[in-house]
Amino acid sequence: HAHEAGWNFDNSYARLPENLFTKQGPTPVRAPKLAILNDKHAAALGLSPGALASQEGIATLAGNRIPEGAEPLAQAYGGHQFGYFNRLGDGRAVLLGEQITPQGERFDIQYKGSGRTPYSRGGDGRAGLGPMLREYIISEAMHGLGIPTTRSLAVVLTGEEIVRESLEPGAIMTRVAASHLRVGTFQFAAQWGTLEELQALADYALERHYSEPAEGANKYLHLLEQVVGRQAKLIAKWQLVGFVHGVMNTDNMSISGETIDYGPCAFLDTFDPATVFSSIDAQGRYAYGNQPYIGAWNLARLAEALLPLLHEEQEQALKLAEQVLAGFTEQYHGHWLAGMRAKLGLFGEEPEDEALASGLLTLMKEHRADYTNTFRLLTLGKPEDTPLHGTSEFTDWLGKWRERQGRLVNESGDKAEGLLRSQELMRRSNPAVIARNHRVEEALAAAAVQGDLGVMERLLAVLADPYAYSAEQEEYTSLPESCDRPYRTFCGT
Ligand code: AMP
Ligand code: MG
Ligand code: MG
Repeated sequence: HAHEAGWNFDNSYARLPENLFTKQGPTPVRAPKLAILNDKHAAALGLSPGALASQEGIATLAGNRIPEGAEPLAQAYGGHQFGYFNRLGDGRAVLLGEQITPQGERFDIQYKGSGRTPYSRGGDGRAGLGPMLREYIISEAMHGLGIPTTRSLAVVLTGEEIVRESLEPGAIMTRVAASHLRVGTFQFAAQWGTLEELQALADYALERHYSEPAEGANKYLHLLEQVVGRQAKLIAKWQLVGFVHGVMNTDNMSISGETIDYGPCAFLDTFDPATVFSSIDAQGRYAYGNQPYIGAWNLARLAEALLPLLHEEQEQALKLAEQVLAGFTEQYHGHWLAGMRAKLGLFGEEPEDEALASGLLTLMKEHRADYTNTFRLLTLGKPEDTPLHGTSEFTDWLGKWRERQGRLVNESGDKAEGLLRSQELMRRSNPAVIARNHRVEEALAAAAVQGDLGVMERLLAVLADPYAYSAEQEEYTSLPESCDRPYRTFCGT
């Protein structure tokens, strides 16, 4: 039957030193029921959507049956949570194994909400329907935006209630990831493992995610450089679309450079670098504007964990690590500025480009303008519809922008054609729609209260291609009715 669904597991993680995980299966649940299945992504993984949606398929997605070839385990990791180091691990998730696709690619298949493990501490090992559907929506939205992310294959109801602030329907999400290696996995190995175990983990990460280092190169330094490079790129993409991760603990930063762990995340509406959505982030550690700094801080924790592999002498190892870490800021800034040029439809590179971008952001902050819609309206050639309109500062800014936009165009010949190309660049770079908080809430409420997944399906369809600028997307661009309480999100529910 595993064959029918298309499961094709390998279990390379299970062959790593056993200190790094515990063999652990999911805990069976009472009455599995499918909430949502990602047919398209299933097919891309070489899985049959029909077989997954069958009774047996659903029993598998609920953890009541183990597909042939899977060797489920819970991964051990550590992590700085809001700056404090803790011993952690999959407390409510198990890795089933790695699905090898017909194209030969390898993806982790993880069940989240699948029951207690040796790493559960006080937790019940379970997850609620709302948060799992929320992760499903936002991770798929990130994928639509072209941002590296874990994916969502399915959410099933368990038929059991879980205790949170009130009773909630329990659910299990199937998460698909390039891997679940985290900065915290290396911290665990460095803190509670042997040097051989740390080295085995680093070799594994290199082989799984990164190209061979050059002949004679320091391969663990190469690993650090590659992770730094991917995180610089990833966090720049977050900033450019206004994504706030919300809980950038080191256990929630992936070695592959994918966005992982969708808890209290949300997208900016009005532009303000101080924006925090998470109810538990009172200090604003993970505020929108802090994300690049936190990224660098987390990467320094990775470098620390790798130190014994970088050089035999600690002083030399530190020197090497510091050089690599110092490159993060410049790389991040380069990606961000390149992305801002694209959002503004600018070809080439001019010294004033950064001031042009930050000038617009300053005005957006002052006038509490919606981040996504401001860029969308500039893309549509309707600056008069932005809340910035009518101020002399914005008129000045528009003049400078148009002058800059037109300048290189003139050099290359046909002005009308150049402006068209600039507009096309803006359309590819500025999403018309994002997963707006009120729309996500509306979809979750319909699912929870009426069992109606239609609202969520329609939202997902629109978010699948946020750069389409289609007629159906129009209604998803509107802002919520004004509300006197700020939007709040919650972790780990
Ligand atoms: P997170 O904030 O989602 O990154 O989770 C931090 C840690 O808490 C991870 O080790 C999770 O596995 C664990 N955890 C979160 N919720 C639960 C739960 N309900 N039961 C057991 N462990 C949990
Ligand atoms: Mg986590
Ligand atoms: Mg989580």
